[in-house]
Amino acid sequence: MNKAKKFFAILFIAATILACQTLTGVSETRAPEASSPVVTGAATEAQSALGAESNPRAGSSGLGDSLYPNFGNGGYDAQSYLIDITVRDVKTSDLNATTTIAANATQDLASFNLDFIGFEITQLTVNGEAAKFSRSGQELTITPNQLIKKGEAFTVVVEYEGSPEVIDSEALPVQTGWVTFEEGIFVLSEPDGAASFYPVNDHPLDKARFTFRVTVPKPYEVAANGVLSETKDNGKTTTYLFKLRDPMASYLATVNIGDFDEETMQSPNGVPIRNYYAAGLPKGVNKPFARQGEMLDFYSEIFGTYPFEVYGSLVMNTDFGAALENQTMSIYGIDMVDVNDIEGTEAVVAHELSHQWFGDSLSVADWGDIWLNEGFATYAEGLWIEHLYGRDELNQWVKYLYREAESSPQYFPAPGNPPADDLFNGGVYYRGGLALHALRLEVGDEAFFKILKVYYDRYKGSAATTEEFIAVAEEISGQDLKSLFDVWLYQDALAAIPELGLGK
Ligand SMILES: [Zn+2]
Repeated sequence: MNKAKKFFAILFIAATILACQTLTGVSETRAPEASSPVVTGAATEAQSALGAESNPRAGSSGLGDSLYPNFGNGGYDAQSYLIDITVRDVKTSDLNATTTIAANATQDLASFNLDFIGFEITQLTVNGEAAKFSRSGQELTITPNQLIKKGEAFTVVVEYEGSPEVIDSEALPVQTGWVTFEEGIFVLSEPDGAASFYPVNDHPLDKARFTFRVTVPKPYEVAANGVLSETKDNGKTTTYLFKLRDPMASYLATVNIGDFDEETMQSPNGVPIRNYYAAGLPKGVNKPFARQGEMLDFYSEIFGTYPFEVYGSLVMNTDFGAALENQTMSIYGIDMVDVNDIEGTEAVVAHELSHQWFGDSLSVADWGDIWLNEGFATYAEGLWIEHLYGRDELNQWVKYLYREAESSPQYFPAPGNPPADDLFNGGVYYRGGLALHALRLEVGDEAFFKILKVYYDRYKGSAATTEEFIAVAEEISGQDLKSLFDVWLYQDALAAIPELGLGK
């Protein structure tokens, strides 16, 4: 193997992280929280994620996330979203849309909130009856005509039109959500962009099923999560119906519009893969994606069966400084794909694919636990390298991560304490990955790989906290690992890895 190339790949990722670090001046675009009365001392039940609420008849305007308390909403559990969008003009994203949300009340509800930004709402019904609503920042507060009883299923239909607002994330200095550019539209919502194009309970604790019906003028095409189950020719427009088999966290919903070349393949064990490449991309753009099937089967072997019915990647012909593991369809800006460095780009491809297990199926219960996504996906890159080239190459890779984190500590804070305005800092990636390597050295390979499998199996399709991961690690290893995780996740100073001669 060519080391220079491999290490360029890692540098490439580091450069991306550092590029994000150097951007400044993120303006706070969110209005203050909605003014529903919250009396924090009066919660009746434990702060269980869905439904902890002090006022028994108003669903809370947030889900109690430690970093972003206003993300998501309480008092109900969303079951499904049907997002029906007609894009009238792709250049401006002028659209009209109807989002239908089926939910179950987890408390009596006189009112409840959705997260939704921009647009003009032209009609809003709850169980078929027009409902009152008010808006403040991202909070859409809905007051149905009749009280919704705890345990009751209800349906909300929101009709809206206009062009999505440009929103900057609270968590990182880039535009998130629905993005319009010269040649089309893409959606990149982690962690808070989903509300830019559909009304949503926007937190990974509330997964739901998704269906997308998207109509675009010819000759544009649509690529969304899941399986394309129908394409309808309406004359001047085309309607694409995408269905997703498994529940999904709201931030992973993606709708991409452009002119695509589609490529289909399958993993050696038969998981279907479809890739979309925007027209005009450099020749050979598909090469770094050719081994996705092998990677998918490798991760299935070490983590557990691939969680979804399909996988694939979509590459857009624009720079967005990121790739995102949208469920069943990771998306990449062309700046993340180097056709002259296949092997380096493969590390990014492996990273996004591994998120289908750690991030998408098994999600973070709190954004403060983001290292459970990024540290795992980073370490999955190392596991792919080890799979191809052996333990020595893994050790070289670990040393590279360590020295980067050691030499620029300002970019690599402790992974367990990410700052709210810099969620995707270098620490959650590199130091999160290193924490897993330290765990592996402590408990041995057999216990380590069993921990990964049991942790995934126990929380797949759901969400977990760092404490829950630590509990699995202690259970499987039979060791007290509290101080190991304390040192690796929460202490500012980078811990040593004496086995590799790293640190003091
Ligand atoms: Zn990642």
